[in-house]
Amino acid sequence: SSERSINFSAGPAIIPESVLQKASKEMLNWNNTGMSLMELSHRSGPFKELIAKIEQDLIDLLKIPETHKVLFLQGGAHFMFSGVPLNLMGENGKGDYILTGNWSTRAMNEAKKYGKVNVVCKPDEFNKIPPKEEWNLSTDASYVYYCDNETVKGVEFPDIPDVGDVPLVCDMSSNFLSRPFDVSKFGCVYACAQKNFGMAGLTIAIVRKDLIGKQLPYTPMMLDFELQAKANSMFNTPSTYAIYIAGLIFDWLKEQGGLEEIAKINLKKCKLIYDAIDNSNGFYKSPVEIKSRSRMNIPFVCKNKEWESEWLEGAAKLKLVSLKGHRSVGGFRASIYNAMSYEGCEKLVNYMIDFMKTKE
Ligand code: PMP
Repeated sequence: SSERSINFSAGPAIIPESVLQKASKEMLNWNNTGMSLMELSHRSGPFKELIAKIEQDLIDLLKIPETHKVLFLQGGAHFMFSGVPLNLMGENGKGDYILTGNWSTRAMNEAKKYGKVNVVCKPDEFNKIPPKEEWNLSTDASYVYYCDNETVKGVEFPDIPDVGDVPLVCDMSSNFLSRPFDVSKFGCVYACAQKNFGMAGLTIAIVRKDLIGKQLPYTPMMLDFELQAKANSMFNTPSTYAIYIAGLIFDWLKEQGGLEEIAKINLKKCKLIYDAIDNSNGFYKSPVEIKSRSRMNIPFVCKNKEWESEWLEGAAKLKLVSLKGHRSVGGFRASIYNAMSYEGCEKLVNYMIDFMKTKE
């Protein structure tokens, strides 16, 4: 509706309006229970049915094979930075880390507490995915870890990396559900909220079943994949409302035609913005190598740093908000998750061009 901002935040991020409307309609009385979903016991029949439906919807959307288990967890991606080594390092006490930005680096630093790490590659600047020839994979790692889309600098893997038989672990927090992918290639893939699903408070992990049960003895209960899997993500009180909102978003994704269709729109959206940058004759610049450019988070700068605040103020007047670059990078960043419409991206591009004209 007209009072809603066109929100380019990197997270928590824009949510489809129809989802918010549905949640609002159901706020006081969910599914004829006479109470808000927030007030409903997680041990009640209706909630158990709901979480089973939501899990099935995710399985359908991603075509998750029988070999993998879905876990609804808490604590954000940061909890998984610890959860990954605690659960998966056991075998050889060593994790391989592909570093392509600050999130993968942070995950590696956490893993050092629990075992050995090997840096597979680390570009001088986090503005590209180094080619495989430059990778230094170990022969005895328990897993290979990477971040599919580094949200801060906007660097995304074009394809799932091939690491042979070693279990591949992936932080997909900022591009999960933006396109289909082959879950069977992963030992563990996880995503925090809220970017393409959720609300904050929920983290989804999809773990290969044969890797469950290898946790280190001092793994906290809440991070123990085996306990969580056996309890079907209900070991303790799960983030019930956040799970419900994720469910509404899965319904919305299905209405959009599923991940194949969403991927097509996402590609059109990012092309529109990257074209505007590339066709601006150097007025705008993307700091990321072309083939590693993110489809979700687009950082860019304009020719004169001194125009940045004027640019942001002008954008805000048009309700184009949350476009300031990450504090460590500066410039601008447009995060265009699933819920950002093509029309929203068009408005941004028109504004970028109009602003450029005022400086010519
Ligand atoms: N990984 C990625 C790729 C992210 O984008 C973020 C959040 N922006 C995180 C990890 C950290 O997530 P959280 O705040 O949920 O721990």
